[in-house]
Amino acid sequence: STMPPLLSAIANAGRHGVLAKSAVVMERLGRVDTVALDKTGTLTEGTPRVVDLRPLPDGGLTDDELLALAAAAERPSEHPLARAVVDAARERRLPLAEATDFASVPGRGVSAGVDGHTVRVGSPARLLPADADPAHREVVREVEDAGHTAVVVLRDGVPVGVLGIADRLRPDATATVAALTELTGRPPVLLTGDNERAARRLAAEVGITDVRAGLLPQDKVAAVRAWEREGRNVLVVGDGVNDAPALAAAHTGVAMGKAGSDLALETADAVVVRDELATVPAVVRLSRTARRLVV
Ligand code: ADP
Ligand code: MG
Repeated sequence: STMPPLLSAIANAGRHGVLAKSAVVMERLGRVDTVALDKTGTLTEGTPRVVDLRPLPDGGLTDDELLALAAAAERPSEHPLARAVVDAARERRLPLAEATDFASVPGRGVSAGVDGHTVRVGSPARLLPADADPAHREVVREVEDAGHTAVVVLRDGVPVGVLGIADRLRPDATATVAALTELTGRPPVLLTGDNERAARRLAAEVGITDVRAGLLPQDKVAAVRAWEREGRNVLVVGDGVNDAPALAAAHTGVAMGKAGSDLALETADAVVVRDELATVPAVVRLSRTARRLVV
């Protein structure tokens, strides 16, 4: 081909299923020496399912009432956990109330008005009050010990239930981690807003030992900045609104296209359009070859 090497690298990346937004991106990908992966939607398939319903005694709700309440609040959200909750309610053909005053806080959860109540759904670590009944924390712990993501439901500030949500690893997660480890000389790091127990369990399965859990979007940025101050070139791979600031802060940001939120896709330097994580090490390898041809 007579194309300049970086442009043909873009074309090649496209053939591999990765859309790079500019030639500069290919150049940068070739310099990456540290990789940070998001968990939900990146290392996992991002199509989690509700596998456990735990109404708490104070709420007096049935399984279906708990699910319907959570789903009504989650309906406007594009978070994978929200879709899991809404899909579970639809499967049970539960009628969902219209939500008002919807608000979502990345890394934390959602809040909405449902049937005259303020309903919040999200991270137990962030939403359970400091003086919460120890029995509530015990239910959360049981759900997390099973390797599931626990999501707590509060009605007017009172915890009324816990949902257990499970997600599958992507089939190419282990191979991708191995390839990235070989390319950069160090295993990728897991950056997640999810709980430590579920995150560590999943990480161990794919060969990741450095796990940073319970992170808010700005904590992901802080981790990236700390590495870059050491002179590293960080590649962040993520899919969510919660990943967007880290995608922007990193030397290079790559978003998972299929499950990816609009904000992540806009912020990233490149987008994985074929829904395979293994395309990420493939394009890093490609851009290294292209760089050698240029310099
Ligand atoms: P990750 O970094 O693994 O992609 P997120 O930062 O998106 O995870 O979410 C972190 C945690 O915040 C979740 O594990 C969950 O507890 C809570 N959370 C965020 N958004 C929602 C939501 N829409 N519904 C329920 N829980 C949520
Ligand atoms: Mg995610």
